[in-house]
Formats: sequence, structure tokens, C-alpha cells
Amino acid sequence: MDPTTRNGQNMLIMEALIENLPGGVVLVDREKKVILANKKMVQLTHLPKEGFYLTELSKLFEERIDLGAELDKILSTSVSPVVVLHDIPLKKLFYSLSCFQVFDDTKNLIGGAIFLQDITQEKEIDTEKSEFISIASHQLRTPLGSMRWNLEMLGEYMHLLPEQAQKNFYEAYKSNRRAIWMVADLLNVSRIEEGKTEDEPQPTDLAVMIRSIIQEVVSETEMKSISITFTPKKENIPKVKVDPAHFRDVMENLVSNAVKYTKAGGKITITLDQLDTYVQVSVQDTGIGIPEKDKMKIFSKFFRSKNAVRVYTESSGLGLFIAKTYVEKWGGKLWFESIEKQGTTFYVTIPLA
Ligand code: ADP
Repeated sequence: MDPTTRNGQNMLIMEALIENLPGGVVLVDREKKVILANKKMVQLTHLPKEGFYLTELSKLFEERIDLGAELDKILSTSVSPVVVLHDIPLKKLFYSLSCFQVFDDTKNLIGGAIFLQDITQEKEIDTEKSEFISIASHQLRTPLGSMRWNLEMLGEYMHLLPEQAQKNFYEAYKSNRRAIWMVADLLNVSRIEEGKTEDEPQPTDLAVMIRSIIQEVVSETEMKSISITFTPKKENIPKVKVDPAHFRDVMENLVSNAVKYTKAGGKITITLDQLDTYVQVSVQDTGIGIPEKDKMKIFSKFFRSKNAVRVYTESSGLGLFIAKTYVEKWGGKLWFESIEKQGTTFYVTIPLA
């Protein structure tokens, strides 16, 4: 077969494919000259197909991204950067936009591409889901609180109950507490998604807070024969700016996870250190660890690994999502290292004020 004809045919197929993609595509050469803008891109942006200009496209998104500068970066480097932006509002619709490099057969960088997708429908479904969660958890909060109050009143008469009834009462009380925590997590997620978290960072002594959180779990660690230690690596580690109540939520989540997912006889080691321009907390355990295949999903809402569900059934899978959102709000980072069946270390870094 004549190779030129075959190449020619391949080109036509490629062009037809790009033209009919369900997302908008713009291809530019190394000089940032537009080579092609497909049908969907024209439809989404209402820009003319003939003489499709990058400057006009950039203007549409200038509040969220400097497209020209991003393309300059992409076209001037051999490493493969990808820029992705979600939830870009434009004329009552929502878009996701990504820019990436384009290479030829011999891996030469020949240009860049912009991919634009209308995600309005996904966004609407997501908003409806969040509203449902928000309403359901608000409605559940009051009856659960009342149940707790009444159970605590009843608790004063515990000594009058037979042994089995005392056990039943204690189980009911524990279930009520778990439901209250679960609803609190759901409410926190709703607030985060609606952008309504009341976060008021102020200089906070992390060592004092960590010590008081350890006190809260000591009875549980003693029951499971788990040793828990806290050692600040330096004296006088400076205060950092965090919202104290939210930092407490973050640390309670990391420490209670370490307790939940460490078997009897294990060890939890918490450290605090000042490194360069930030303060770092680490929570290390000798527990069940996180399976390699799950590592990417650990900070997603509702995600729980199978090995974790096996040792602790009732939990929301929301704690780490909430924690990461708070920490990133303070300009910090939350990440982990883990080996399955050996243990996990979570790290939190907060920049110095
Ligand atoms: P939950 O506490 O409800 O399990 P999180 O969001 O706090 O939810 O954690 C999500 C998942 O991350 C857990 O279900 C578990 O699979 C994994 N995980 C978190 N911390 C640990 C840990 N210390 N050891 C092992 N797995 C962990």
C-alpha cells in the first residue's frame, strides 16, 4: 500500500476524530499559533471558527487562569506539565479546562492543546447531593442530641438496673455517640462544599493541643495495650496560625485513626518539629497500613480501605477529607507514608506565621 496515501488517510481520520470530540479542543504550534479549534470549542465559547484567536479565548477565563502564560510554560519545557482547572464558571455554566503538551512520533514537542469540557450537569448533580446531605444531617442533629441528653439522664439510674440492662444501655449510648460524630462529619463536609466553614486562624501552641488529645484516647490505648508517646523534637517550637477547633479535629482524626487501625500491643509515636519555615507533626503507628492500590483514594470522601473496614466497621470515611481541606486552608500540607501490615505515618506541616 502507498504509505503517503495511508498517512493521508490517517490524518483525515484524526482530524475527523478531533472535530467530533464531545469536548472543546484547541491545538497550537510551538509559536502559540492556533492550528485547529474543533466544533465543540466553537460551540462552547461562541468564538468564530475562522480566525479562532487565543487572546479571545484567554479573555473568557482571565479571572481564573492566565492561559497565555500557562501555554508558554508548557511550550518551553521538555517535562510534561499538565494544568487542570475545575469548576470554572462562565455564563451560568461550569467548565473544566486542561492544557497539555503535544508530541510527534519521535517524541519531539510540537505544540500544546487546550481541552474544555462542560461539567454543568455533573456540578448540578453534585450540588443536589450536597444539599440532600446537608438537610438530612441538620434534621438528624436535633433528635440525636435529644436522645443523648435523655440517655445521660437515664445513666444516673444505671446502678438500679440489672447487669444485662446496664450492658444494653451502654451499647445504646455508644451507638448514639457514633451517630452524633457521623452527623457532625457530614455537616462539616456540607459546610466545606458550600464554602461556609468558619475558620479563624490564630497563633496556637500545637504541643499543648496534642497533649490534651492524647489524654482523650489514653483509656482506649490502655484497653488495647497500645503504647502512645509524644516527643517534641525541639524546645520552644513556635506557635503557628491555625483555627484551634479545626486543628483539634485534624489531630483527633489522625490520632483516633492510629488507635483504630493498630492492633493490640502496637505502638503510636507522635512528634512535633520545627523544620526550616514550617512546623511538622507526625503520627506514626505500627498498624494495618494502607494497601498500595488504595493510596491514591485515601483523601476522597467516603473512601475506606477493605482492610480498615474489616477491623473497624462503623466509620464515615470523611475524616481525612475534612482534615486535608482545613490544613490546606492554613497553607499547610497533609500526606502519609504507609506499608501494608507494617504501619502508617501521617504528616501535617503548617507554615510559620
Ligand atoms: P475513617 O476514620 O472513617 O475510616 P478517614 O477519612 O479518617 O475515615 O480515613 C479514611 C481511610 O483511610 C480509612 O478508612 C482507612 O482505610 C485509611 N486510614 C486512615 N488512617 C489510617 C491508619 N492510621 N492506618 C491504616 N489506614 C488508615
